Amino acid sequence: MSGSLEVVNPATEQRIATMALAGEAEADAAIARATAAGTGWRAVSPGDRARLLRRFADAVDGAREELADLEVANAGHVIANARWEAANVRDVLEYYAGAPERHAGRQIPVPGGVDLTFHEPLGVVGIIVPWNFPMPIAGWGLAPALAAGNTVVMKPAELTPMTALRLAELALEAGIPEGVFEVVAGKGSVVGWRMVTHPAVRKICFTGSTEVGTRIMAGCAEQVKRVTLELGGKSANVVFADADLERAAAAAPGAVFDNAGQDCCARSRILVERGAYDRFMELLEPAVDRVVVGDPSSPASEMGPLISAAQRDHVASYLADAPVAFTGSAPEGPGYWFAPTVLAPIAEDARAVTEEIFGPVVAVIPFDDEADALRIANDTEYGLSGSIWTRDLARALRVARGIETGTLSVNSNSSVRYWTPFGGMKRSGLGRELGPDALDAFSDVKNVFISTED
Ligand code: NDP
Repeated sequence: MSGSLEVVNPATEQRIATMALAGEAEADAAIARATAAGTGWRAVSPGDRARLLRRFADAVDGAREELADLEVANAGHVIANARWEAANVRDVLEYYAGAPERHAGRQIPVPGGVDLTFHEPLGVVGIIVPWNFPMPIAGWGLAPALAAGNTVVMKPAELTPMTALRLAELALEAGIPEGVFEVVAGKGSVVGWRMVTHPAVRKICFTGSTEVGTRIMAGCAEQVKRVTLELGGKSANVVFADADLERAAAAAPGAVFDNAGQDCCARSRILVERGAYDRFMELLEPAVDRVVVGDPSSPASEMGPLISAAQRDHVASYLADAPVAFTGSAPEGPGYWFAPTVLAPIAEDARAVTEEIFGPVVAVIPFDDEADALRIANDTEYGLSGSIWTRDLARALRVARGIETGTLSVNSNSSVRYWTPFGGMKRSGLGRELGPDALDAFSDVKNVFISTED
């Protein structure tokens, strides 16, 4: 072990747990257990693997309230969100429980014999989870990885290990064999990096900053290790003058201030067609004012604190020279609170417009026409998410095809539906999670030719 880990409640700054901090030796031991468990797990029949995943989903369902409470205390998520997140783990496990019995190969017509393809598991999959959505991001890697016959070693973020550790216990309670799902709570630079360099780990599934993701990709290249990256974002919420402005403005705060803005899909740039700009701002101000920021355990709260003092300082650094149009409220006293903040009018090349802030700060920028909207929306290294508000369906489709991001919504700000692919273009990532194709990212295709010649 390499020291101890103090887990803190970001709403109170109180310590909620102290645990041993795993180091490289513990990472190696977990990888060895996951490697050893692999032979048995891939041999479990598809029907039995599906049944075990359903039991795991049932165990998560039974512990939903407990998991949600843990996330409220550990990550400062408001209870309504934390309940959704626990239910999302259940749903994703259930969804991929359908996969082992359906992940079929193909029979391809060839001369001289029969050709078959098989989806083979990769082996041990390393999942590196950030602190912003500890439960869903754990589930999005874990469920398809296990369904495809892999074993998993997961490294939660140092700041938020509680729910991952509980999920590992629930897996065992549900009958998932020992070693199939290991959780190692340690530093990213030690435990996470060991997963990158360890030859027995055949894939890394990483969510976090673009900076660390870039390093992980380079590390994986050394071993031609498979990698999925879900990285940062600076998504645009594009509002045309013909949109239902009341709805667009009422929904805009939730699209960026949810989870206190610590969301890779946060619509942190609102682009508004110039003719509707003044009206939109008039509607946005009361909507921001209405956001209930407070005690995350209260069902009335819509936004909790930031994850840490360091994150609060980081977010505050963007306001030093930025024009604040208006703000919402935030509690005084202990906790890493930050009021929802709207920046306008602001230069398109301001730091707060070009960099991912990962806090409750949004910039509002006017645009002239469709081409100008696309120019501004695409003027970023990121490409994860975004929204388009218009009543003109043809325009919605043109703009949706023109915006360089992986996940878009029209007249809605929702990004994540577990039935559909999720992931980023440009420097927002590599590969897709969720949806029907995720299994392919956790398996390799093997081609077998059988001669029928005499
Ligand atoms: P990081 O990218 O540093 O952390 C994400 C995960 O990677 C954590 O589990 C971390 O472990 C681990 N990690 C860190 N360094 C390494 C490494 N060298 N090798 C392997 N794993 C590693 O994000 P931060 O927590 O530092 O957040 C910084 C910024 O990143 C945020 O302000 C935000 O802009 C962005 N971010 C984006 C996220 C997204 O969903 N796209 C999620 C989180 C952050 P540990 O924390 O234990 O060190």
